[in-house]
Amino acid sequence: MLKKFNAATIFALIMLSASAQYPFKHWTESIETRYDLHQPIVDYLLTVDSTDFSSFAVEIKIRNVADTFHVAMVTHPEYDDRYWQFVEDFFVEAKNGKGKILREDSALWKIVTNGREAVLHYRIHLPNVTGIRSSWKAYLTPTGGLVGGPHSFMYVVGATLVPSHVAFNIPNDWEIVTGLQATSDKKAFYAPSVAVLVDDPVFIGKFKSWHFTVDNTPHRVIYWALPDSKGFDTTMLVSSIEKIAQQAVLLFGRPTYRDYSFMLQDGAVGALEHNNSVTVGAPSSQLANSMGGILSEIAHEYFHTWNLMRIRPVEYRDVDYKTPPLSKGLWFSEGLTIFYSDLFLRRAGLTVFDSTRSFHLENLIRRYTVTPAYLRFSAEKVSEASYGPIGMLGDYSASTHLQGEVLGSMLDLIIRDASNGNKSFDDVMRKMLERFSGERGFTSKDIEQAVKDVCGCNVHQFFTDHVYGSKQIDFSKYLKLIGLQHTIEWKDVLSSDQKPAPDLKAFVYQLPNENAFRMAISNPTVVWGRAGLHTGDIVKSVNGKPLTSDLDFRSIQRNAKIGDTIVVEVQRQSGVQKINVLLTGYQQPVVQITQMPAITEKQRRLYEQWVSGK
Ligand SMILES: [Zn+2]
Repeated sequence: MLKKFNAATIFALIMLSASAQYPFKHWTESIETRYDLHQPIVDYLLTVDSTDFSSFAVEIKIRNVADTFHVAMVTHPEYDDRYWQFVEDFFVEAKNGKGKILREDSALWKIVTNGREAVLHYRIHLPNVTGIRSSWKAYLTPTGGLVGGPHSFMYVVGATLVPSHVAFNIPNDWEIVTGLQATSDKKAFYAPSVAVLVDDPVFIGKFKSWHFTVDNTPHRVIYWALPDSKGFDTTMLVSSIEKIAQQAVLLFGRPTYRDYSFMLQDGAVGALEHNNSVTVGAPSSQLANSMGGILSEIAHEYFHTWNLMRIRPVEYRDVDYKTPPLSKGLWFSEGLTIFYSDLFLRRAGLTVFDSTRSFHLENLIRRYTVTPAYLRFSAEKVSEASYGPIGMLGDYSASTHLQGEVLGSMLDLIIRDASNGNKSFDDVMRKMLERFSGERGFTSKDIEQAVKDVCGCNVHQFFTDHVYGSKQIDFSKYLKLIGLQHTIEWKDVLSSDQKPAPDLKAFVYQLPNENAFRMAISNPTVVWGRAGLHTGDIVKSVNGKPLTSDLDFRSIQRNAKIGDTIVVEVQRQSGVQKINVLLTGYQQPVVQITQMPAITEKQRRLYEQWVSGK
């Protein structure tokens, strides 16, 4: 709310106004009520009981608070895990006896206390994990787990700028790793705001740890292993992560944090970025086999420290319990992050998926060409849809990561050409950091401006066509700038026995709180779309049997051959319809990039710079 004026300024303004005739006492009271000059003082205590790892307890001491106030749990803009479902045994102690709690919405509670104080108590009963655990979600085991973040802490609504202390009461032989600030007490930390409090996960337990410094900034890597963990080359893992961190500092000049923690967990998948830490699922079996995939994921989430956490899309504002608006800028936040995770690994001399940048570009163009959604939906629209409901693009599906990486790759070529090799997208990233490190979030127009300022060229048509619009990218035009050309040839997709593979580009999904299964097709041109199915159709049965899980559908698909007919019975507003899907094969583009037969000296020079990853 009000942060610009202090009480003295407000009082001076009032005394100058015509209303200054009112008694002084009246004014002090109304200033306090109106401008909420008293911030609550908040202390958290999180307790893990070493005999029961199915839940943990949270106590929140709040002083200097109104006798009626609200607490809520934050909704993450991308991963809304809805841990408010797991709040149990919630009660409040007031200064004089018990207070009252009224749940006003799923993630919002009204607290009635007295004496301007309250102590809230609740437990988070951890959900049973079926399948593989997601690395960013709270969990507990006898040897440690992850707590903190939006999965653990409620906050006082309207007081998101309030700092807090967070203490942990955990088994004696457990350690704590978190991005929260250390205090003189090893088991207590400081969060300067609610945004930081819920952004920083807290790893507790027994784990291996390593340290390195980059630009005098401490970095630590921790690995939490399962009891049956496989051995892997930890020296290689840590030195590779150090090389990635060095690349970020080379690009941006210096870290944006005081210290950084890479929290790697065995037995989990997925990863999530934070302002000075990352949680990464890193199964030991995978690390023992090949580190490439996990390093690429680490590079991606780590790059988000700058591009997403610091350089934020305009829609990502302060924390809230309400779902934030969908963002139009994720093509940049995700696409350029994936562009740089590939580039960082190349620059650091680490293993990459595609051995050369040309192969990488061939793959990008192939994936772009096979997806008709990019010729229908602008990058801004696909950005919004990436965390929107399934079906937001009708029968089309698209990836903002891919579309953004393709656009970033083309803009990089435009900049290299226009600046005669003196500038690249690196300069756009630095400019964006310089302009958007504060409170203000960016829009696509701001990116357009930054590119224009770096290359001194006009990219308005490019943004109109591909960022605000959905015109097909003319790859030849941009590849030519560095002396490259490409061909696209559509070929039958073959299965492992070298026979044409059936088109299985459809799946089923369930909406939260819905038992029915719904159909999703990847685009209207796949055999499932041509047969008349639409994304969102409620599936009554497949081949005469109702589905009990998505695995039923996958198993029908797995056993299907070309020429088979799969009968899908769907429920629509117009009634029940039987749709026969006659399975056929399908084609995919094969893209080949080669050097143009005759190139200029400038094209050769630009190509050499580009291909070397500079
Ligand atoms: Zn990402």
